[in-house]
Amino acid sequence: MGAAASTPSIQPIFIINDRNGSEQQLRLNEQLDQYNAACIASAPNRSAAPTVEPSDSPADIYEKMKSIELEPWIRDKIRGTNISFFLDGLPHTREYATIWLPYHICENDRSFIKVMKHEAIHIHQRIYGSVWKEIYETVFNMKPWNGKLPAELDGKRRLNPDTILWPLYSWNNRVPVMVYIRPDVPRLTETRLVWYNIADNSWNLAAPKGWTDFFGTDAASICEHPNEMAAYFLTEAPTSPAMKDIADNLLATLRFKFS
Ligand SMILES: [Zn+2]
Repeated sequence: MGAAASTPSIQPIFIINDRNGSEQQLRLNEQLDQYNAACIASAPNRSAAPTVEPSDSPADIYEKMKSIELEPWIRDKIRGTNISFFLDGLPHTREYATIWLPYHICENDRSFIKVMKHEAIHIHQRIYGSVWKEIYETVFNMKPWNGKLPAELDGKRRLNPDTILWPLYSWNNRVPVMVYIRPDVPRLTETRLVWYNIADNSWNLAAPKGWTDFFGTDAASICEHPNEMAAYFLTEAPTSPAMKDIADNLLATLRFKFS
């Protein structure tokens, strides 16, 4: 037998796009989720959201991909996920099943592996949204909230491509909302979490009573949406017994539902 072309072992979980493929992928993403259109329609997001400039993938990407170990509940369910690279920006996902990575992400092995696991969870959430919604109710005690935020608060919101097709969520009648600290000079990384109170239409910076006892996290930045909380709990070492409990419960539920 002749020598077969070697197929990277990570295939067919991930499809790595070159620059042309990534440009096409970006157009498809926008047709499906209209994240860019939503940013353009919102003044602070229009200023803050960087232009995505697709690039070729780094030369060592297939080699690096071999170090991504995923459990079967996720590995076997996200096959065919596209990976596209862009010149600079924050890693994120788009619809349908596309992970966007900044070109230089492979330079640090540890952060590359962590980012890939985090983004793979967002892809799983996109594909199995209805199951995750159930899990958020049973494990996080969080419910979708389809009400309307006051215009003043809504006007400061930072849109997130990983949650753009999802509703906001409430916990004990409070809704976490990520806002720009300076909506007049917005920066993607200069944000803070505020808590909207459904009962009296007010908002403030304090987490609802019991939140920290329940979730144990002091990382307010991840509390904007259960999609981000889940990705964090599944990829970061627990910093408290409460965080360990909720992460263990979440992982056991996912293994059970997707085995
Ligand atoms: Zn995320």
